[in-house]
Amino acid sequence: MLQSEILGSTGWLDDVGLVQKVGESCGVFGVYGPGLDVARLTYFGLFALQHRGQESAGIAVSGGTGVTVYKDLGLVAQVFDEQRLAGLDGHLAIGHNRYSTTGSGSWENAQPSYRAIGERTIALSHNGNLSNTSSLADDLGVLQETMSDSELMTEAIGRELDRTDWDRALSTVLPMFEGAFSLTIMDDDHLIGVRDPLGFRPLVLGRIDGGMVLASETCGLDIIGADFIREIAPGEVIIIGQDGVRSIHPFKNVKQRTCVFEFVYFSRPDSTMSGQSIHAARRRMGERLAAEHPADVDVVIPVPESGIPAAQGFAAAARIPYVDGLVKNRYIGRTFINPTQQMRDQGVRMKLNPITQELEGKRVVLVDDSIVRGSTTRQLISMVKKAGANEVHLRVSSPPYKWPCFYGMDTGRQEELIASRMTVEEIADFLEVDSLGYLSMDGLLEATAVDPNRFCTACLTGDYPTEIPDMRSTGAPST
Ligand code: AMP
Repeated sequence: MLQSEILGSTGWLDDVGLVQKVGESCGVFGVYGPGLDVARLTYFGLFALQHRGQESAGIAVSGGTGVTVYKDLGLVAQVFDEQRLAGLDGHLAIGHNRYSTTGSGSWENAQPSYRAIGERTIALSHNGNLSNTSSLADDLGVLQETMSDSELMTEAIGRELDRTDWDRALSTVLPMFEGAFSLTIMDDDHLIGVRDPLGFRPLVLGRIDGGMVLASETCGLDIIGADFIREIAPGEVIIIGQDGVRSIHPFKNVKQRTCVFEFVYFSRPDSTMSGQSIHAARRRMGERLAAEHPADVDVVIPVPESGIPAAQGFAAAARIPYVDGLVKNRYIGRTFINPTQQMRDQGVRMKLNPITQELEGKRVVLVDDSIVRGSTTRQLISMVKKAGANEVHLRVSSPPYKWPCFYGMDTGRQEELIASRMTVEEIADFLEVDSLGYLSMDGLLEATAVDPNRFCTACLTGDYPTEIPDMRSTGAPST
């Protein structure tokens, strides 16, 4: 996505009042598997990674005589059917699930992006966001507005590949990219995985029936029965082909800064990352939250689904009953049908509905993973109160979200982030809760059980690991 689109984004609740997972927390996948049904494997890999993006889905496949891409707006299961998959024959494939801001969801932004270089063709899937899009566009002599950052990358790689081989092309071009990029790339006979030198977004390697698999998260391997081998290291490029698997390391400065929000919110709880179970880490966040911000209440209720493991941890540590008080419609996905005005006004109710019997007359702790703009949470609290809760105490299993992300999480401009404008007390007043407690930074980092120096915490601390060229114009810090 173009940085200008990110910076100009306005929505957390979209125009139909639904909570949107905004940003480019996309899912990428790839499989090199002579003799395997690679399109079908990619379909299922994307299906498991659907939580990382619901706006568009695409698969590129090659049988050795050119790359074919099929992509469209919608969920994986809406874009592909038996017939479509049967037409995608080959021995290697890559796939992509995309999510972006409301309004920028055009077909042109769907991935994999594709480029022909003479007789050859390549395709690329990207999770993340470049922070030097404009200088890259200048270097390539193209208008920034005409290409997404993923297309710019495909263009840059393609041009170089026209002159030389993969190793040299990637070693020359990749160091020109700044920001977050976990990529799967392919041509007729190579599958390539790339993780940027800070390792912002995840990428894992697996094995299946003599083939190799790349996926954003381990849940993408599990679904197809692939064995997890290891994570691609920050700054590592892995090239898979007829001759086997090899790695190159084209980046000079490598230091891991994986997005801490992968642990808080993005990743699926059944995935593992940096050797840790995401579910177990989220439970520990809840346990720690209970110690930092106890509450004298009758029940602990999660905001489904992201708040569930932390609520379980909170309830267990505080020895308070854990109760389901809200039900989420799991099938909402991305709606293409406009609700009526009355339904819009109900906003969050399209997605979450209270179980009145569990809330009536109770003092409640609600546990959620984060508050970003505060608009969804405010509606939610009012709904829980209307359902009859006597007291509502909100506990959040991450610290206040204060700074815009430039690495693939489009959470809007800084002034849209409620914690950058208000103190915790002011937020509590705005949300109309009886008390509000956020997990501390130390609490969060300890709960991950990962070396804290390996995380990017910019959205919570303002400590950005790269230069952000256009920061001042966005209202972001100039530090
Ligand atoms: P709000 O009250 O509008 O700030 O929305 C808070 C809700 O957004 C929480 O339930 C979070 O789980 C969810 N959330 C957190 N991060 C994201 C994200 N990057 N995209 C979409 N939703 C998110």
